[in-house]
Formats: sequence, structure tokens, C-alpha cells
Amino acid sequence: MAYKAEYIWIDGTLPTAKLRSKTKIVADGAEPGIWGFDGSSTSQAEGHASDRVLKPVFSCPDPIRGGADILVLCEVFDIDMTPHESNTRAELREVAERFAGQESLFGIEQEYTFFDGSRPLGFPENGFPAPQGGYYCGVGADEIFGRDIVEAHMDNCLKAGLGLSGINAEVMPGQWEFQVGPLSPLEVADQLWVARWLLYRTAEDFGVSATLDPKPAKGDWNGAGAHTNFSTKRMRADYTAIVAACEALGEGDKPLTHIRNYGAGVESRLTGAHETASWETFSYGVSDRGASVRIPWQVEKDGKGYIEDRRPNANVDPYVVTRLIVDTVCSSLEK
Ligand code: ADP
Ligand code: MN
Ligand code: MN
Ligand code: MN
Ligand code: MN
Repeated sequence: MAYKAEYIWIDGTLPTAKLRSKTKIVADGAEPGIWGFDGSSTSQAEGHASDRVLKPVFSCPDPIRGGADILVLCEVFDIDMTPHESNTRAELREVAERFAGQESLFGIEQEYTFFDGSRPLGFPENGFPAPQGGYYCGVGADEIFGRDIVEAHMDNCLKAGLGLSGINAEVMPGQWEFQVGPLSPLEVADQLWVARWLLYRTAEDFGVSATLDPKPAKGDWNGAGAHTNFSTKRMRADYTAIVAACEALGEGDKPLTHIRNYGAGVESRLTGAHETASWETFSYGVSDRGASVRIPWQVEKDGKGYIEDRRPNANVDPYVVTRLIVDTVCSSLEK
């Protein structure tokens, strides 16, 4: 019997790209091949030359449809098969390949917020809920909003075979987190994009939307980030490499180069308040949730492990953040 392949790609919407998908019926025994789409409808082409190419790069079981159906994540190319300018995965491929010998691993903590129409899920129709304090990792109907969706999303990610490592309720009502990894740069980024698609798709069936907006509620509420945990083979064995990685991230123009590529509106989240360091200064420290980069206490105790870059926004492109960190840290560690 023929099966359904849901082709998923990242569009050209600025400043933050969106996910798109469409379905191809594939004959039994056939592979999901190259496909195309109308780039003029996704900010990836002009109408007079609108064809763009979808090239499958990662596929997994489709947990929504089940059976033999699959999800197919694609890269976008021009018709001459050069990577489209919105194709940030192509650049990551090259950098990941160049430093493959250092065996980089990433775990990304994806924070997000459910919305019920124009309000975060759990916000009352008028006014505001009780201030932050009880919601993080909370339990009970007065503190938790959307757990049924979160559980369904988690199950879907596991059925798809994604490397999810956990979920938790966050500090604002309706705000949650899931973690993907530790995985190699391309694996973590591909799987995070698919997990995002599954988040939107799962919540759709509950009539709820999910957003990666870095500052979804104005006022005294935490923003939404994508803390990016990182290690190389040396860092997993040797504390001097942990410190060297932090130093490399703080060198010269690196802090600003990274910040500029850590998601639209990053300055509005990295204010220096709400467990963030100001985007204008770079700092690192053990256990310090007010630093740009945190060395977990266990890592200092063990004398090896990984570091946490706390700066990326929830809306960061995982192909970009992993490329920048691998490039900056690995080129410094190999010296
Ligand atoms: P936090 O205490 O910051 O909330 P989490 O438990 O949410 O931490 O996330 C920690 C992340 O670190 C997980 O995604 C995990 O997979 C990742 N991680 C663990 N060990 C490593 C490692 N050696 N290299 C990279 N990432 C790692
Ligand atoms: Mn058409
Ligand atoms: Mn976390
Ligand atoms: Mn968090
Ligand atoms: Mn964290």
C-alpha cells in the first residue's frame, strides 16, 4: 500500500523562519525523493521564478498518522541545486564535518508558551494570574495549564524516535520546556526542528497554539530561551577544556557575533533580570544562572562534562547556534 510522507521545511520568513509542510503519497517500496514547492508563498522566491527544491535529509515515523507514514525534514535548494539562502543547515554541514574529530554533543532546552487565542494559556480573561513562583515544575490545576498537550507531544516525539531527554513546566503559566539531546550538531538541530513541528501539530488538535516568542508576556515574567548545552570529547574528559571553551566564547568579537545570531529580539530577553545576563556583557561561572555561560556544579565537582550557553532565545535557529558554538570553541580547542 502507498504511504504518506509529510515533507517539512523551514521557510524564509524574517526575522524568524516558520515551519511549513505538505503531504506526498509515495508508492509502496519507493523512497521519498526530491520534491518542489512554490517559494513565492514562503518568502523564498519571486513569483516569476518561484520553484524551489525540497531535498530529504532526515526522516522518522509519523506518530500522528502512524502505520507506515513518515515525517521527512528537508533542506531547500534553488533549481540549480545550490542551497537556498534560507538554508542554514548547509553551512552547519560544512562546519560539523570540519570539526567532526572533536565529537561535539549538544543538548538544547526548548522553552515555549501555549496561547489560547491572544492570551497565554492559564492567563485569566481580565488582568493577570498570581505572580511567578509556584508554576515552575508545579502540580495542580491552579498552577498547570496544558499538561495534556505536553504529554501528547512527548509521546509523539518518543514514537518518532527523537532523542528527547525530558520536559518540565516553566516559571510562567502556560510556559513549558522540552530538551533534545545530547546528540551531534546535525542530529540535535534536525530533531529539534521536527520536535517543534510536532509541538505545533499536536497542540493544533487541542485548539491551542504554541509560540517560541522570547518575551511572550510583558511585565515581570521570565522570557523563553533555548539554553544550549555543549561538550566536546576533551571537555567530557578534562576541566581545563571546559574553562578554555568558556574563554573562547568570550574572546574578541565572539560575544556580539553570537548574540546577533541567537534569535530575533534577544536583547528584549537578555536584560540582566529574570535569570539572564545582559546581552551587552559576557560572563561565565559555576552554577551561575545570571551568567551568559554556566558551568553546572556537577561538572566542576567531576572535573569534566559540559557547559550551558544560556543566551539563545527560544526562537533561535538550531542550525545557526550549533554552527557558531562548534566553530568558535572547536577552532580554539584545536590550537
Ligand atoms: P537545566 O538544569 O539547565 O534546566 P536541563 O536538564 O533542562 O538543565 O538540560 C540539560 C541538557 O544538557 C539536557 O538536554 C542534556 O541532554 C544536556 N547534556 C547533558 N550532558 C551533556 C553533554 N555532555 N554535552 C552536551 N549536552 C549535555
Ligand atoms: Mn498549487
Ligand atoms: Mn532546563
Ligand atoms: Mn528552562
Ligand atoms: Mn538550562
